[in-house]
Amino acid sequence: MKKLILIAIFLFLLILVGNSELFDKTKIKGTYVVFTVDTEYDFPPILNTERGIDEGIPIILSMFDQHNVKATFLTTGELAKNRPEIIKEIHDKGHEVGSHSYHHKSIKAMTKSEIKNEIVLSSNAIENAIGIRPVSFRAPGHSACNDLMTLLQENGYLVEASAEKINSYPYHPDENNWISEGNMSILRVPVSHTPSYFYPPTTYNRPWIDCFNKAISSQSDKNPKIVVIGLHPWEFVKLEADEKYQSYIRACGNYTIENVTSLLDYLDGQDVTYVTLEELYHVLTD
Ligand SMILES: [Zn+2]
Repeated sequence: MKKLILIAIFLFLLILVGNSELFDKTKIKGTYVVFTVDTEYDFPPILNTERGIDEGIPIILSMFDQHNVKATFLTTGELAKNRPEIIKEIHDKGHEVGSHSYHHKSIKAMTKSEIKNEIVLSSNAIENAIGIRPVSFRAPGHSACNDLMTLLQENGYLVEASAEKINSYPYHPDENNWISEGNMSILRVPVSHTPSYFYPPTTYNRPWIDCFNKAISSQSDKNPKIVVIGLHPWEFVKLEADEKYQSYIRACGNYTIENVTSLLDYLDGQDVTYVTLEELYHVLTD
């Protein structure tokens, strides 16, 4: 009998853990939400088509308009140079335009002068498109390194936003170890949760509202709470690629659109403030 009761308790707990509604009643206070969009060609370097730019960005912009979201679009310099009208439209709608390097190649595999080149070329291309130089950066494939932090700081950047799961809350990095806290003036703002990034089995099929609330509940000792969400324009379009890439693009299209829509609807009823990366920098450091 004792055994049966234990099994019943165990099953009950399992149902609770598996229930995505579990965190729905979380009281969210003093919460900043940063939507970031890595604005690049489709599924780099596999496809490099422009469907996300032509079809995905209009969907994202209209969703953000509808919910009064001001977001940060981190564009490659290459895209800003080739499609300046798109980058200008994003800027004119009040969103921040940051840099996602020039060529979208691994930063940590580069020499210091190659990294500097990526930073300067992309800053120039963005300035040509919108008239101001970017102050936020995310390395392609989150391939950040110590040299990148130093060079960004020297070139007028305030924020570096690559993922690093060890530190999922903003911090000023150490110049000799960018994943540790230190005294640099640049602010690291890692992605809090990345349900969209390649949809590994642990996150695919988990509602984004649930992902959001898990990020909040992991910051019980933090004030303010900060959730940084990473998106790509090509995730809003049903892409086609070889069989071997199916697991990477299986959520592109309706699945992503539905999840972002329901998260935005959910956040409409919560006490959250949407900020850009640059605004978050000022919230935390001014
Ligand atoms: Zn990218």
